[in-house]
Parts: sequence; C-alpha cells; structure tokens
Amino acid sequence: DQNKFQAIISHCKEYGFIFQSSEIYDGLSAVYDYGQYGSELKRNIREYWWKSMTQMHENIVGIDAAIFMHPTTWKASGHVDNFSDPMIDNKDSKKRYRVDHLIEAHVETLDKAAGEALLEQMDNLLKNDDYAGLRDLIINNNIKCGVSGTTNWTDVRQFNLMFSTQLGSVSDEASEIYLRPETAQGIFVNFLNVQKTGRMKIPFGIAQVGKAFRNEIVARQFVFRMREFEQMEMQFFVRPGTQKEWYEYWKEERMKWHLGLGIAADKYKFHDHIKLAHYADAACDIEYNFPIGFKEVEGVHSRTDFDLKRHQEFSGKKMQYFDPEINQNYVPYVIETSIGLDRTVLMVLSEAYEEQDLTKDDKADSRVVLKFPPKLAPIKLAVFPLTKKDGLPELARELINECKQDFYTYYEEKDSIGKRYRRQDAIGTPFCITVDHQTKEDGTVTIRHRDSMEQERIPMSQVRDLVLKAIR
Ligand code: ATP
Repeated sequence: DQNKFQAIISHCKEYGFIFQSSEIYDGLSAVYDYGQYGSELKRNIREYWWKSMTQMHENIVGIDAAIFMHPTTWKASGHVDNFSDPMIDNKDSKKRYRVDHLIEAHVETLDKAAGEALLEQMDNLLKNDDYAGLRDLIINNNIKCGVSGTTNWTDVRQFNLMFSTQLGSVSDEASEIYLRPETAQGIFVNFLNVQKTGRMKIPFGIAQVGKAFRNEIVARQFVFRMREFEQMEMQFFVRPGTQKEWYEYWKEERMKWHLGLGIAADKYKFHDHIKLAHYADAACDIEYNFPIGFKEVEGVHSRTDFDLKRHQEFSGKKMQYFDPEINQNYVPYVIETSIGLDRTVLMVLSEAYEEQDLTKDDKADSRVVLKFPPKLAPIKLAVFPLTKKDGLPELARELINECKQDFYTYYEEKDSIGKRYRRQDAIGTPFCITVDHQTKEDGTVTIRHRDSMEQERIPMSQVRDLVLKAIR
C-alpha cells in the first residue's frame, strides 16, 4: 500500500521522527536524520536489542569497533573483489540502475504470472553471473528507464558498493581506506582479543551496533535502503560441525525477539537463500510485511570459518581457539545475526501507524495514532494541568519531577485537553495524565490510555509505578 507508506513518511517529517539529511540544501539522496522523537525511538530499539543479546546471554559480550579499519581487512573479507552489484546505464538519460531493481520495478507493471516468470529468469541469470543474458532480458522485455524513458542500454557491469576515502594527507593508493560496509569485520578481527581477555568459552558471541556505509544505487525507499545506516550484528562462534544446529537455534531465537515487539507472527516469514554469498553454507532472511510488501529486515547467516580463515591468511596471525573439552585447536565456525536498525525503526513505525475514524453521532472526528509498545515509545508519560492557574501547573510539575529520573516525560498546558491528547497520540505516548481541581482535594488524577482512549481516576502516587510496570 504505497499510500500508507507515503503517509508514514509525511508523518515522520511532520512530527519530528525523521528528516531528509541537509534538507535546506534540497537533501542528500538516501541519507536521513533522526529528529527528537525518531532518535529516541531508535535508541529504545537499539537498547532492546543490545540488552536481549548481551545482558540476557551470559556467553555474549558487546564491543564497539572503529568504522575505519585497515584496508587489508576488506581484501581478506572479499569485499574488494565481491561486494558489488550488476549495474546498467541508460545511454540517453545517463542514469545508472541496479539490474535487479530495474527488472523488479518492471515486474510491478505486469500481471502476476508474467511477473513471476520474469523474476525467475532474472534469478537464474544472476545466479550464473550471465551479464550478457541480463542485458538481453532487459532489451527483449522492452524495459524502459522511467515512464517516457528509452531503451538504449549499455552493457551490464559490476559496481563496488564501498565508499573510500584517504587516511592522512598524502593521497596515494596505500592510504586509501574504506568506510565499513558491515560491522561484522570489526568483530572478526577482535575475535582473539575478546576471547582471551574475556576468557570466553565456545560457544560464545560478540555483539556490536554501529554505522555501516554502502553506495546503494537505487535508493528511493525512505530509511529502508540508505547509504549511511546502522546495523546490529552478532557473531556466534561455534565448534565446527555444530553450525547447522546453531543456525536453526538462532533463526528461532531471532524470530522470538521479533514477536517480543508485539508484532503478529503472520507479519513475518523466513526466506531461505538459494544463491548463497561466497562465505555462507546456509542463510535466510527474516522478512516483515511492510506497507510496500514482504521485505528483509534481518539476515541469519551460517558464515562457516570463511572470515577467520581469511584473516588468518592475510594477517599471518593464528585465529585458532583451543577447545579444552575435546583437547583440540580449531578455527571456529560462525553464525551471524544481522539486523538493520533503521529498517527496524521503519518496521516498528509501519506496525504502529494507524489512521482512525472516530466519527460519532454525525460529528466528524479522526486521529492518527502510533501504537508503539510502551517500552519503545519516545515519550512514556505526558502530564497536563487542566488550567494554567489554581496551582495545577505546580502539581503537574511535581509529578513530572517524580518521574523524569526513570523515563521520558512531557509537560504541556496549551490548548484543550482533547487537542493535547491528539498530539501525544501522533507521537505514540502511551499514557496522558490530567491534573485538575479534584487532584488538590483527594490526590487523584485522570489517566488516559492511548490505544483504548479510556480514562480512569487513580491516585497520583501510583502513576510512576504504573508506567514503570508498562515499560519493563
Ligand atoms: P538488501 O538485499 O536489502 O540490500 P542485504 O542482504 O545486502 O540487504 P545484509 O548485507 O545481509 O543486507 O545486511 C544485514 C541487514 O542490514 C539487512 O537485513 C538490513 O536490515 C540492513 N541493511 C542492509 N543494507 C541496508 C541499507 N542500504 N539501508 C538500511 N539497512 C540496510
């Protein structure tokens, strides 16, 4: 549903969740900034992932590696040679497209059977790296660039997705470094540092959250596909031969995490990879049903011992672990779970966003509400004095002061209570409190619940605990 997708993008901008980067200069393509509520939402998701990985697992620890790494890292990992996508240029418009995206966009214009047949042909050609065949497919299907575009295409070529820059002041080839295209390699090169200093025993994991950079070509899907984005990755090191079991284990564990966000199971599906990356012996995506269809949010990959072995080879340093249980040295196998933080933000927003018609007795009314799980909501509690006088603002401030150490609160005294509720609904605040004259007499306040819009009177002294319980 493209309309819902567009509505979410507008809402994100209007309510301070996500802005286009450098907007006053007309923006930078596929780069976004998180505003006051978006950054808080993102931080809460990051926290939730981090805690569930590290705090909840005795055998998983976290690190925070640098974005810049020694350039040999990317030769060893295969990114210099393999991290590329087949591209094609249109000779008239001078626009460059990722071949798969170009064909997928064309498929949208076809009926179901024809579309599926074309996708199957494309997949086969991609699998065989048949670039001439891909070009023929584009030409034979009369695939155009844009609506009124032409069909004058170049050959299909590989285009590396890594950004490079210069370290230091001298610009020669030796000083060329890359912005990391994934956070995983920072974990692999630190594998022995962490294992030894943490006295970690296999199986164990290392988790990391951080920025990654990819020069994506067709990037028009809001924060779904960005050029600068954040990944939350965990590499789990296991004894060779046990990787299949651990792969199944992590598939299941990660799905449980997703369901823990309060999202229904039928909004997800696993998509097993048929064409495996050069490092993998099994891989799948966890797909969520976005307003633009089922798309990948997370990958679970059985990466074998590929990365550690390659780093061993390129660095000349042993990447082995001594397993006291079987009295053997080996290079561990790795199961990776890799989830995009920005895509998860988009998933949580898509799930939460609802336009509701509240028309009653012929009186037109509506609201937009973000039904975030309370633990992810940017603001947990809004407090409103009914009026700006009679000591009510002071009482409201008292409640805020009691709560703000523990969670984000919001004070507002402008406009009618109804309007104030609507503004909090639009940013997803789960609880609103109104302080009125009765509060002065018996210490009770009105609590209003975001999703049901129900209101009840409770003692002001219970508010903090009620919210704390809801966000646990
Ligand atoms: P896609 O096929 O969508 O390009 P990918 O298979 O290349 O993704 P991985 O390399 O497996 O993705 O990266 C792991 C996760 O990082 C993805 O599941 C996704 O959530 C996130 N991710 C990857 N590329 C981007 C991007 N350009 N913008 C935002 N998130 C991304």
